[in-house]
Formats: sequence, C-alpha cells, structure tokens
Amino acid sequence: MIEIALTLEELVQKTKIKFEEHYGRPARWIVVAPGRVNIIGEHTDYNGGFVFPMGIERYTVLAADLPKKTVHDTVVVKCLRFNETAHIKLSQITRAEPRWANYIRGVIRGFQEKNIQTPALDVVMDSTVPLGGGLSSSAALEIATGTLIEAVTGKNVTQEEKALIGQKAEHEFAGVPCGIMDQFISVMARKNHIMLLDCSNHETQWTEIKNPDVSFLVINSNVKHQLASGEYGKRRSECETASRIMGVKWLRDADMELLESFEDEMPVIPYRRAKHVITENIRTSKAASALSNSLLEETGTLMYESHQSLMSDFEVSCVELDYIVEISKKIGLSGGVYGCRMTGGGFGGCAISLVETKMIPHISETIEREYKEKTGLKCSIFASRPADGARVIEQ
Ligand code: ADP
Ligand code: MG
Repeated sequence: MIEIALTLEELVQKTKIKFEEHYGRPARWIVVAPGRVNIIGEHTDYNGGFVFPMGIERYTVLAADLPKKTVHDTVVVKCLRFNETAHIKLSQITRAEPRWANYIRGVIRGFQEKNIQTPALDVVMDSTVPLGGGLSSSAALEIATGTLIEAVTGKNVTQEEKALIGQKAEHEFAGVPCGIMDQFISVMARKNHIMLLDCSNHETQWTEIKNPDVSFLVINSNVKHQLASGEYGKRRSECETASRIMGVKWLRDADMELLESFEDEMPVIPYRRAKHVITENIRTSKAASALSNSLLEETGTLMYESHQSLMSDFEVSCVELDYIVEISKKIGLSGGVYGCRMTGGGFGGCAISLVETKMIPHISETIEREYKEKTGLKCSIFASRPADGARVIEQ
C-alpha cells in the first residue's frame, strides 16, 4: 500500500489550527521547506562531485507570531511530532536539550553571525518528512527556520547563504558533518525539476520532468543500522586518503586513468572508495542528460549501477536495501520499474526507484510483500513528483 501523507495544504491548515489552540491566537507567518531525495550521485558531495536531488512532497511547516508579551528574549517552539516544547534563549544560543531544537538554534546563530537578529517568537512546528529516514528532515527543519527568520525580520540572505547557514548548523549544533546537497535542494527545489548540483562550485543545472507517466517511488526500509554515523566519517577520511595519495585536492579532480596509475601504491580500501566516487560522478552527469532526453531505461540502468558500486566498492549498503533493489530488478521493465538504488548515506534508510506511474500500485504491493517475506519487516512506500523549495506561505 502506498503511504499517503497530508497534502501541503492540509499540513498547513493543521499547523495553523494547532497554533491557535496552543497560543490562543492565529499565527502571522507560515513557512515551509521540503525534504529531499537524491536520484543519483551518492557520497559524491563531500568529494566535490555531482549530485542529482529533487524536493519531495513532504514538508516541514512552521507557524509563528511575535509573543504577546515581549518582555522575554525567547523563541518558544512547540513540536507536534514529539509533543515537546523548546525554549530557546536568544542571548545564549548553545547546544542543549531538547536535541531536535539544536537545528533551530544553529540557524538562529547563523543569522546572528550575519547580524540578523531573530526576535522572540512563538512557533508551532509540524512535518510530513519521516524523521531520520534519509529524506533530510534535518535540512527541511533548518531551511524552514531560515525562511521564517527572513520573513519575520524582513531581511533576506541569498539562497546559497541560507543553505550554508543550515549546513553550518548541522555541523556545529547537531554534530553531523554533512555536505551541502540537502540544504541546497531544500532551498532551491523546483516543481517538476531535478537539480544537478556541482558541489565543487555550487553551480546548478535543471532537468525538467514533464511526463506525468513517470514517477519516483521512495521505499523506506525502516531500518537504521548503528554503523551509519561512524562509517560516514570513515568513508570521508578514506576518500581524503585516496586524494592525498593521488595528489589531487579532492576526488572530483581525479579520473579512472589517474586512479589506475596508482593501483600499486594505494591500499585497496581507499582505491575502491575512490573508484566508486569517480564512476559515480560520471554516472550522475550521464543520468542527468539521459533523463533530460527522456531516456528512462538508460537512467534506470545508471541507478542500478550506482547501487552496485555503493554496495561493493563503497560498502555502505545493507541487506535490506539490497533486497529492495533485487525485488525491483525482478519486477523489471515489463512491470514498470526502470531502475532502483539505495539513496542517502546508507546502512538503512531509503531506496529510490524510477517507475511508470500507472504501475505504482502493483510495484509497491510486490515490494512490500516480498520485503516482508525476506526480512520480516514492513517497508513504507510513497510516490512523489519533484516539489518546490522553501517559501513563505503567509505573512
Ligand atoms: P534525516 O535528516 O534523514 O531525517 P537526521 O538524523 O539528519 O535524519 O535528522 C533527524 C532529526 O532531525 C530528528 O531526530 C530530530 O532531531 C530533527 N527533526 C527534523 N525534523 C523535525 C521535526 N519536524 N520535529 C522534530 N524534530 C525534527
Ligand atoms: Mg539529516
């Protein structure tokens, strides 16, 4: 069964009602930022390579107003997902409990560093982005916060600055050394478009997906292996080792010919990590141009190849994600699946597949059933078209 979340309109409506219930008056500002899924280009961002993400129709919404009594200097955030309230003291922004509020604290701090002072606020927050599932609920929260601060203060930073403030918040306040993809796409996403982002210079190119017969399925394995955060740091340093040995700034500047010329000098692990990144960059550029030309089979093949490389050379997949890809391959073109791969950091989280829209019920039913048979687990599946990025809905 396909999972149906609240639509953006329903989510906004719900958050507005909750704001009134909680604070006894209507909200003045409503802002929204989407989660994201990466179609191809995994573990390339911190290597200065290409990524190919889109915004998804899952959002984080913030409803806010200035407090009635402005004597305090606190941003009060009521989180509907956890039914918890955070009190963020503006004169003293540091990491604290509750931890989910650190993403907000970090962004408030980032704006303060640009001399944009967030005033005291009453806020209600809700989201349809699954938390911790690799669809970047964290970036959605950071970018929604940045968008709210812009709306409330009337001071805008550039889109790139807003993304970088979000990334810094994630680094310094959540302790996650992420690349720039998540925040960039949450800021800039465009309806019906996928963004090819060159992480070396932040240049973007857009691929339009007009054809309604094609959809993306996000398949959440609903597992998250403990390995994830430690292995992420390891992969980063293995990539750095490979770059250092080859004498390049980062793997973006290497190609297979250069790598092969170092085969005897480079230990096998950095070699394989570099091979993944170099070939993944090529696959990502190829997929963007294939999809621009409606070459769906070719795009799908590149997605399968990406998965294979992440599984065997980069070693960040897991059996659950491998099953999902295997089942998708078995359904195949005749069943409406063009391609499938793990997406996100790995060790659990989601797979993404490119499918024929009319076959979605059959595909999702098959994946759900066979995944359950193999793992005993339930996966969650939803379809999304590429959605718009962060924006102010009401002010
Ligand atoms: P992902 O970004 O893939 O969803 P992360 O671990 O990076 O996973 O971020 C998830 C964390 O972000 C949550 O555990 C929580 O702390 C915070 N978060 C994001 N969105 C919300 C929300 N709407 N309500 C509460 N916390 C949130
Ligand atoms: Mg995240």
